[in-house]
Amino acid sequence: MRELLLAAAERSLRYLEGLDAHPVFPKGEAVARLRAALDAPLPEEPRPAAEVLAAVDDLGSPATVASAGGRYFGFVTGGALPASVAAHWLATAWDQNAFSQVSSPALACFEEAALRLVLQALDLPAGAAGSFVTGATLANFTCLAAARHKLLARAGWDVEARGLFGAPEIQVVVGEAAHASVYKALALLGLGRERVLRVPADDQGRLRPEGLPELQAPAILCLQAGEVNSGAFDPAELLIPRAQAQGAWVHVDGAFGLWARAAPAYAELTRGLELADSWAADAHKWLNVPYDCGLALVRDPAALRGAFAVGGAYLQPSGGRDAIELTPENSRRARALDVWAALQSLGRAGLAELIERNCAQARRFAEGLRGAGLEVLNDVVLNQVLVAFGDDERTAKIQSAIQEAGTCWCSGTRWRGRAALRISVSSWATGTEDVEDSLDSILAAHRETPVKDASGGG
Ligand SMILES: *Cc1c(COP(=O)(O)O)cnc(C)c1O
Repeated sequence: MRELLLAAAERSLRYLEGLDAHPVFPKGEAVARLRAALDAPLPEEPRPAAEVLAAVDDLGSPATVASAGGRYFGFVTGGALPASVAAHWLATAWDQNAFSQVSSPALACFEEAALRLVLQALDLPAGAAGSFVTGATLANFTCLAAARHKLLARAGWDVEARGLFGAPEIQVVVGEAAHASVYKALALLGLGRERVLRVPADDQGRLRPEGLPELQAPAILCLQAGEVNSGAFDPAELLIPRAQAQGAWVHVDGAFGLWARAAPAYAELTRGLELADSWAADAHKWLNVPYDCGLALVRDPAALRGAFAVGGAYLQPSGGRDAIELTPENSRRARALDVWAALQSLGRAGLAELIERNCAQARRFAEGLRGAGLEVLNDVVLNQVLVAFGDDERTAKIQSAIQEAGTCWCSGTRWRGRAALRISVSSWATGTEDVEDSLDSILAAHRETPVKDASGGG
């Protein structure tokens, strides 16, 4: 074990220290080589673990996306803080099953502590309950299951026992720019993707308050903190009290944006979110812990417990906080440990600095792009920048050229009917030089891509 784990540490370090020289997206040959090597049957005989590790590293590492480095701006990804990587390694050695006080007293302690720290970092009600799940998709699901439980219990219906057959209908209202994962969660919960009422959004993807209908209890309103393209926030301070006065449960999908509550500079943007009934956030995005880790936070602990508590002869509740009663999962890994480690290593000041630095870097991207005459499509209020390079065809060409150059990697998207390059700055590892080098690479692709016009020149 000793030699093997030392070798794994050695190889991990070599990987991380070599990331700067690694193309941000792997070369096609590296992926092809991996795929070909993996095209093999189950070995008949055992293989030495050191050889297995060597295969993982030698074949796998060159085929990875360098999202742990400072020049990956795809999706909203985040890197992994050193303290959380180290804690994650140790937790793998521990191999704890984090479902209850009895399956792992240590993890039960870390979960309670990490949850408390998260609520403090995000300035959310101290009495809220929560659970650690795989990501914001499952966090949306978990929160909406708590909503479904409470709203239907209030209407005299035990949805966990009887299902939705014959249940009172729940009115579900979302903003037009809601994330696809909200629809996935609603579909899984039997609330349907298509019966949802969609409220029109403004040019930044914010729900328009004047479009919000009269809500009829039982009702759920899903708001968004951090539109996945623009980074915009729904007007929470205005909408949450209004919806709650009509008996609705207000859920906030704050996968990355909720972390802005940890940065004093963004207090204005996030005001009122604390009034909601539930919040989904991703620790693997802006808190920069290793995949996978999402957070489902629910104001009323009884609603969360009501949706997920289980019985069973051998799963007796301990009397303390048992994660199994608060999450769709039973057996699970030590996600809370990564979160605890990240928050210890950052502290309140470090977390605020991380959020504010990434937002300043996003503004620098926008400034550099505008300086070159390019069209930034969104108000850069947070960490997201959308840029177009003329028509859709040219934007797509430039996106490919940037990705191929390998200095940085950004996703493409569509924004208000147009193709755009989407730059998402959310990694602790991104430094000033990373931003300048990436900006240079983006502008070089722009300069070197001809503008199609009547004369064919440019
Ligand atoms: C990323 C994201 C999600 C989905 O999160 P996963 O961690 O991929 O499950 C949901 N909502 C928003 C706004 C997001 O940005």
